[in-house]
Amino acid sequence: MEWKNTADVVIIGGGIIGVSTAYYLAKEGMENIVLIEKGTICGGSTGRCGAGIRAQWGTEMNCRLGIAALDIFEQLDDELGMSVGLNQGGYLLVAYNEEEFETLRKGMVLQNSLGINSRMISLKEAREICPGLSADDAFGFFFHGRDGHADPFLTTFAYLEAAKKMGVTCFRHTTCTGIVVEDNVVKGVETERGTISAPIVINCAGAYAQFIAKMAGIDIPNWGERHEIMITEPVAPGVCPCMLMSFSGNYYIQQRPHGSIICGMSPEGHPEDFEMKTTWNFLEEMSRTLVRLLPRTKGIRVARQWSGMYDMTPDAQPIIGETDVKNFYHSTGYSGHGFMLAPVAGKILAQHLAGKTPDIDFSMLDYRRFARGEHIRESNVV
Ligand SMILES: Cc1cc2nc3c(=O)[nH]c(=O)nc-3n(C[C@H](O)[C@H](O)[C@H](O)COP(=O)(O)OP(=O)(O)OC[C@H]3O[C@@H](n4cnc5c(N)ncnc54)[C@H](O)[C@@H]3O)c2cc1C
Repeated sequence: MEWKNTADVVIIGGGIIGVSTAYYLAKEGMENIVLIEKGTICGGSTGRCGAGIRAQWGTEMNCRLGIAALDIFEQLDDELGMSVGLNQGGYLLVAYNEEEFETLRKGMVLQNSLGINSRMISLKEAREICPGLSADDAFGFFFHGRDGHADPFLTTFAYLEAAKKMGVTCFRHTTCTGIVVEDNVVKGVETERGTISAPIVINCAGAYAQFIAKMAGIDIPNWGERHEIMITEPVAPGVCPCMLMSFSGNYYIQQRPHGSIICGMSPEGHPEDFEMKTTWNFLEEMSRTLVRLLPRTKGIRVARQWSGMYDMTPDAQPIIGETDVKNFYHSTGYSGHGFMLAPVAGKILAQHLAGKTPDIDFSMLDYRRFARGEHIRESNVV
């Protein structure tokens, strides 16, 4: 593919955030958009994630983003002309003590006020939704039937193909090595293959976004956190048709349409391990949790385990918006839920850049909120 020395917009990062942003910018009529990715598309967190999608959040902003993303996901096959593998089995949230139950109940009240029809359910109903669930020690359950999961590879490639049809150029194996800034205004990017001059640059580098920001002299309080995940051999459907999740229990578990069960948990000690090692400890602990909650899984084999990076912020909510360097934007810090928010994140940033009023006012996601001490911590995170 012929190299481009100039562009109207350069996007750094070929994960779901960068690709969806490219798509929505093109859809807004912007031209000459170039996306650069240091490796392959989906080679970062996106291709390593659990790909759960939910609207059951604890902060108003995440609820608004979550339900808007669900609205988009539900019509995405038609819009992009390719299947994204959406499966809506719902998210079943499990509380293990009174305090957690109260937090989730308050979350449900907030969600309901924003049009998200989550509800409190009994153990009996939880077992109807998730047959064979063994959770006698649980304090209570909450459920939202529109939640679910999609295929991260299908979704990203569907966005990419649609973006390319609208003229977006994508350079893989192209590492951004510098941000060109003059008089505090962004002027382009330096890469290992050459410089691209551009009046707008968007940092969508996921868990590496803080390093890109630094290239322009910007400090963001993000960090990468290694999370492990595993998948079993396929078994008959119906073992865990919903996403079973607990924040204090520290797990998420879901059966894929082809029968494999995918599950993960948060690591101890927030490891900033960019080598993305996997551990025996995770395999053992996760397997124990799986069999305790779903005794029918006893004896099934683990097919694969791997790691990926969460792109964390101090309040577990993203950073979207312009920086102190004019026309240098961030869309990052999705703190373990960037796959599900990508459709709406790409769309609202593109609307803003096209001079429109975004569907959701994202001004509170400005990174300077941390310095101002204005962040509200999201509680619903594994
Ligand atoms: C184990 C695990 C489970 C998860 N489960 C879920 C889930 O159930 N639901 C959910 O919504 N989210 C989940 N996530 C989070 C989700 O994967 C991320 O939030 C999302 O993929 C972020 O997308 P992104 O495009 O910002 O980042 P990425 O997919 O990481 O893309 C960023 C890209 O930037 C590139 N890049 C970095 N530096 C440079 C450079 N210098 N030059 C050029 N390119 C560069 C990287 O190579 C990378 O491909 C999970 C994550 C993990 C690790």
